[in-house]
Amino acid sequence: MKNVKTDFPIFKNYPELVYLDSSATSQKPQSVIDTVSEFYEKNNSNIHRGIYDLSQHATELFENTRKKVAEFIGADSEKEIIFTSSTTESINLAAYGWARKFLQKGDIIVLSEMEHHSNLVPWMRLKKEIGVEIFFITIDNEGRLNYKDFDIDFSKVKLLALTHVSNVLGTINPIADIVSFFRKNGSDTRVLIDAAQSVPHIQIDVKALNCDFLTFSSHKMLGPSGVGVLWAKQEILETMDPLLVGSHMIKKVTKNTVSFADLPEKFEPGTRNIEGVIGLSAAIDYLQKIGMGEIEKYEKELTEYTISMFASQKNVKLFGPATSENRIGVFSFAVGTVHPHDVAEVLNRSQIAVRSGHHCAQPLMTCLGVSGTTRASFYLYNTKEDIDKLVEGIELVKQTFKIV
Ligand code: PMP
Repeated sequence: MKNVKTDFPIFKNYPELVYLDSSATSQKPQSVIDTVSEFYEKNNSNIHRGIYDLSQHATELFENTRKKVAEFIGADSEKEIIFTSSTTESINLAAYGWARKFLQKGDIIVLSEMEHHSNLVPWMRLKKEIGVEIFFITIDNEGRLNYKDFDIDFSKVKLLALTHVSNVLGTINPIADIVSFFRKNGSDTRVLIDAAQSVPHIQIDVKALNCDFLTFSSHKMLGPSGVGVLWAKQEILETMDPLLVGSHMIKKVTKNTVSFADLPEKFEPGTRNIEGVIGLSAAIDYLQKIGMGEIEKYEKELTEYTISMFASQKNVKLFGPATSENRIGVFSFAVGTVHPHDVAEVLNRSQIAVRSGHHCAQPLMTCLGVSGTTRASFYLYNTKEDIDKLVEGIELVKQTFKIV
């Protein structure tokens, strides 16, 4: 894994860069960059519409990615893979196309206190529009879900929409256990998993997770921006409404009637981010060449190293689980009472790129009793040296703000 960094041109261009913001977006390996450039140089054309060779080849590359994504997450069929623009759009599609159609006033949607706004605001809008109720699974002091301690009319729970991994705390939620707990108690609860932070780091199998919908983004898993995925069971997608209508997603249009295309095109209106989808294929190839198991193992080592580093720091508070068990390398922390933006600014002076603020999880910030945190998030190209530099950077923050 030591040589992984050399596959990423950003680190050749900025040899001193310590990039610790992969939860926001990952860096891209040369193979992904080359695949996107090559598309423009050799294959550029629109898909699904041309009889000519270029278009057919572009269509083939695009559709092969769909198959690759399906296999990558253990889906039964590529028809279950919908390309969107982002996790955010994928969740909105599920909220609009499925929940808005099938849920009614009084039905309950269960979320958790650690949700990203992307898996919160669409459901809040639904609450306003159709009167569904929202309940939150609380978090404990270590940032784990209190899902067994839940007093609710389970028969009314129609949707459980949870993040697999917290983008603030790094917690990996025991999704399969939570799902079986809810299904044991309620009858027909559907499950949506926001996997934006898990698909890049953990081998995902939608069947093992026992979910109905799964959403994630290409840009967090070494692929291009502007590509998201919604996976849902075929029987669900067949009954769902599209979010956007117009070009590309129709079967037949007359002046008075319209019928929609079959899966998956029904949910892919307009011209998709073709080069982005094809770039995602190269990203998956890259991840699979190393192996998701290897990546997980390596990141666990980094996580353990970082936790031990935080444990030995005075006046540095780590939010989230204090052990590497069911946790990934996302570390939110506070240095004394220094404002998170000031911490990030001082770290930036040493070319350490971290994120500061509410991380699009304001309700979680309220639970933690802070307005924001500083967050260092790792990926497969990070090293123990990066963590050592973070420690030095934190020392500089302490000196700057006279924290003893
Ligand atoms: N959910 C989680 C858990 C995330 O971390 C993010 C990105 N920070 C999103 C959803 C939204 O992803 P995107 O911006 O690609 O829509």
